Amino acid sequence: METIAAISTAQGNGGIGIIRMSGKDCFKILEKIFIQKNNQSIEEIQGYTMKYGYIIDYETKEKIDEVLVSYFKEPKSYTTENMCEINSHGGMIIEQKILEQCLLAGATLAEPGEFTKRAFLNGRIDLTQAEGIIDLINAKTTQEAKASFNQLQGSLSEKIEEIRQDILNVMANIEVTIDYPEYDVEEVSNSQAIEAINKIKEKLYKLEKSFDTGKILKEGIRTVIIGKPNAGKSSLLNAILNEDRAIVSKTEGTTRDTIEEMISLHGIPLKLIDTAGIRNTNDEIERIGVDKALKLSNEADLIISIFDNTKNLDEEDLKILDIIKDKKAIILLNKIDEKDNHLENAKEMQDIKKTIIKISAKNKDGIEDLYNKILEMFSFNEININDGNLITNIRHKDLIKKASYSVEEAKKGVEIGAPIDLVAISLKQALEELSSIVGKNASDDIISEIFSKFCLGK
Ligand code: GDP
Repeated sequence: METIAAISTAQGNGGIGIIRMSGKDCFKILEKIFIQKNNQSIEEIQGYTMKYGYIIDYETKEKIDEVLVSYFKEPKSYTTENMCEINSHGGMIIEQKILEQCLLAGATLAEPGEFTKRAFLNGRIDLTQAEGIIDLINAKTTQEAKASFNQLQGSLSEKIEEIRQDILNVMANIEVTIDYPEYDVEEVSNSQAIEAINKIKEKLYKLEKSFDTGKILKEGIRTVIIGKPNAGKSSLLNAILNEDRAIVSKTEGTTRDTIEEMISLHGIPLKLIDTAGIRNTNDEIERIGVDKALKLSNEADLIISIFDNTKNLDEEDLKILDIIKDKKAIILLNKIDEKDNHLENAKEMQDIKKTIIKISAKNKDGIEDLYNKILEMFSFNEININDGNLITNIRHKDLIKKASYSVEEAKKGVEIGAPIDLVAISLKQALEELSSIVGKNASDDIISEIFSKFCLGK
């Protein structure tokens, strides 16, 4: 494979920049543009060492930058090929210039994700690990980073392998029946097979289900705060945002004119929808009132509805209760520092059976209760991110679903006494689907698509 090169550090000015090369001829190319201080031959240089020197212009031989170069010798490198990393000064122009020399000296510009793709194609990591790397780089919260890191360490691969072994065991048992029909083992092995298949189904189901949490970990709990004017929405927003929970990012929302803000709630991302609508306008009608709430609540995972507890419920409050009645929602009764009107006792409040939390947005009382409730509602307390039982990727979810279906088919086959080899076909199908998760038989298109999402130089 040709030798590839790319700038691996992010664009912009920084202390250092790293230009990376990988491929058989990596060191030959490097030699043409790098003058080492202590001129050692490549045979003498050990892997995992760094050399000090200068990058020179390929044509004029003029010194360009003072650098340190790390050497990685095959197969002990990120890609398993010969690799080097040129640590230059971290300016865009100088990094670009060094990259140019690598290309002039014989390297080809790497595509996004090509280093990691090589690590995958050369068998050092599987597809879930590669996907873990991209997720780790893009993680917006500590919990997401943790889940991605575990995936990159192979936790999901292990889980998938465990389920594959379970299926192989069932197949082996079934094949005994085919091979030795003269022994009347069919009855026994049928019930055993069903029991084993049920266990497999249960494992697959758990994994599939974990995607609900995994997706949220990746994309945030889409949350909308609603309430009529003066209920205390912007005060609540301030109470949430003013704490040291950093705003992770601000993006245009999917609905026109909305702004989404990602905050990290004990490491779990909360995507607040249309906070701008609450904060930036003095026009009361513009604030997230009933009409807009109706629209936004349809795209939300969670509605936080806020009521002024010093007042009685009015028409508008009732409309809000109506909006949230079939949704995942929390009711906040605000301004408990003032007068307590005990809105929680109102029949309409009780009827919809939502969690009610009393708060004072002004004094930031009750906000912690709100956080804890959210964590509880989305089962974050139960999920163990470490054990590989959490999937965050839709591709994995789809394949697990397919495998589940195939396993179900196998079970039905056993139940109705279908020919054993038909049952085996369904089980083989499930095995293949699980193999695709780790990339054993993934098509080129899928592989290209996955790696195209990587950044340059990774
Ligand atoms: P919004 O229209 O829903 O965004 O409501 P604001 O957050 O602007 O609050 C409306 C009014 O209620 C303001 O005068 C706030 O100071 C007041 N307010 C908000 N939260 C509280 C609270 O917890 N206690 C008290 N006493 N007043 C509050």
